[in-house]
Amino acid sequence: MRFETAAIHAGQEPDPVTGSVVVPIHQTSTYAQDGVGGLRSGYEYSRTGNPTRTALETCLAALDGGARGLAFASGMAAEDTLVRTMCRPGDHVLIPADAYGGTYRLFNAVLSTWGIEHTSVDLSDLNAVRAALQPNTRLIWCETPTNPLLSIADVGELAEIAHGGGARLVVDNTFASPYLQRPLALGADAVVYSTTKYLGGHSDVVGGAVVVADAGMGEQLAYSQNALGAVPGAFDSWLVLRGVKTLGVRMERHCSNAGKVAEWLSGHPAVESVLYPGLPGHAGHEIAERQMRGYGGMVSFTVSGGESVAVDICSRTRLFILAESLGGVESLIEHPGRMTHASTANSPLQVSASLVRLSVGIEDIDDLIADLDQAMD
Ligand SMILES: *Cc1c(COP(=O)(O)O)cnc(C)c1O
Repeated sequence: MRFETAAIHAGQEPDPVTGSVVVPIHQTSTYAQDGVGGLRSGYEYSRTGNPTRTALETCLAALDGGARGLAFASGMAAEDTLVRTMCRPGDHVLIPADAYGGTYRLFNAVLSTWGIEHTSVDLSDLNAVRAALQPNTRLIWCETPTNPLLSIADVGELAEIAHGGGARLVVDNTFASPYLQRPLALGADAVVYSTTKYLGGHSDVVGGAVVVADAGMGEQLAYSQNALGAVPGAFDSWLVLRGVKTLGVRMERHCSNAGKVAEWLSGHPAVESVLYPGLPGHAGHEIAERQMRGYGGMVSFTVSGGESVAVDICSRTRLFILAESLGGVESLIEHPGRMTHASTANSPLQVSASLVRLSVGIEDIDDLIADLDQAMD
């Protein structure tokens, strides 16, 4: 099955009992047994397994070409479960210098107290990555494109470096989604998602996922998923599965709208720089062109007037809603310095106060540009 077909059909056969075309929301905590230990269809308790969650997990594994998909209650729950499955005290992880703020906090404030060390490194600088590898480095944790600076890392090269050093490569593929980028095919060992973003796609659910290349690692993760228990409920699983069906068409529109917004911003007199991997002048453009099917829906830019102008633009848009998060059908605008990245003030990532981040939605492009035009007038 090709991508758009798998998005609609993988794990989603009509219900064998009722014929229901849509996977039912199995809102149950437990399952009747035929005699002691006689499971009717493999399910015994919904932390361990739930048919609606299974449908989502099967579909996500298919979309990334992985051996197994696992769904979690949030992106952070997915990350925590993955790291605690793959690392032990004394292990070391390389994380991106501009890692997602929550990922930085997880490593810096939580996992460090359990003896899992980390080093922040610019993943677009492969020599710096090689130099930062240690004998106890267990994982290279990659994001591409990054948030909010949209820098690009070469997944294939990083996989080679990781494997050469006895480590594994994890890619947080939240910004690209499996439609635009398939890290496992490029050599990564595991992919993580905040399904809250493009996979869910409608800003109505918080969720996470991991997809792994290796079935054995999938088994270990399933054990941890049940043991740690950070699972999504049936309804949340259903919402993500519903979102995934339209991922391909949504991403096409996100990409085309974001490309046009980036181009328009590039010609605006108040704009100092535009950060979008689709622009030929972007430092990671050629790698992005090679490893992605499109350049995504996220666009960041700096204004020449500094913080006050950037904050002003964020409060003047009418269609672009001033809010954190990203990846939904509606366009959002935010000021990373004061909003999403305020909590990473002492991290290696220093975002410019004149930076504005857009999550470009799938509305009519002329309406979106008219909105930015009036806000930046
Ligand atoms: C939002 C996000 C996360 C965390 O996901 P939650 O669902 O909010 O827990 C992780 N990585 C990236 C890149 C994100 O954008």
